[in-house]
Amino acid sequence: MAKRIESPSSINTFKQCKRKYYYQYIEKLPTQANIHQVRGNIAHSTLENFYNLDTHQLTEENFARKCKESIQTFFLHYWKQYQEKLRLLQLSPDQERFYFEETMLMLMNWTNHFVEDLSILLKKKNISVQEAFLELTPVREQEYASEGRSVRGFIDAIHHVDDEVHIIDYKTNSTFEMKESIRLQLAIYSLLYFEKHGKMPSKVGIFFLRHKLKLMNVDEPLLDLARKEIEEIHKHTSSTEQKEDYPKTITSLCKWSTGKCDFYDVCKPHEK
Ligand code: SF4
Repeated sequence: MAKRIESPSSINTFKQCKRKYYYQYIEKLPTQANIHQVRGNIAHSTLENFYNLDTHQLTEENFARKCKESIQTFFLHYWKQYQEKLRLLQLSPDQERFYFEETMLMLMNWTNHFVEDLSILLKKKNISVQEAFLELTPVREQEYASEGRSVRGFIDAIHHVDDEVHIIDYKTNSTFEMKESIRLQLAIYSLLYFEKHGKMPSKVGIFFLRHKLKLMNVDEPLLDLARKEIEEIHKHTSSTEQKEDYPKTITSLCKWSTGKCDFYDVCKPHEK
């Protein structure tokens, strides 16, 4: 059987519950959109496009205000663009207002960090606001793929910081925690970057939009983790596509107080 093309999220799904992987990637049952995914997409589009801001209008006096205004403008634009998807979620007006305000607060938090970094850079290097903005502008939304390993992923932001490369992913998670699944996602990005450029990134991390940036160093053990997990999933998925070979892992992730796994109704994990 040919190797399937995997991604950090398919590998993490496989690790969480093989049956869930089977339903999603082999049987390809439809998944349901939820507000966390939709607002995550809106936040990502806002941040990706923020860097397209026309920096000619920025001065040392107005850049903080202009950056905040700009992020609000982009956010409103994308929130409107996603109206149809939001409507399908059937949120009450109060719920929609709550998620709108919460996402706006996260983006304003991110902008405060960006403005602070810009101010530090201006003081440190004695350069223009435009030059500092450009220096902080990452390469965005890049697809990295390894044909040999049959894995691909999209990297949100690649920053060049002096001689270092930092790979950053944005997350709207409530917890400021490098969970095992996040560590694996970052390990896979590091490996993909290494295989393409022949050099490891110096650091990888998450910008937790409610909190701040959390980085970790990239080293051989991190790349080995990615290699091992990629190998393991291919070993299993290349050998069988039979449902019974993808057992259920029944945990609190099947159903919780406010939601359930996309495949809960077809899976019926709690039926004897
Ligand atoms: S409901 Fe639970 S056991 Fe079933 S696929 Fe989802 S996570 Fe796995």
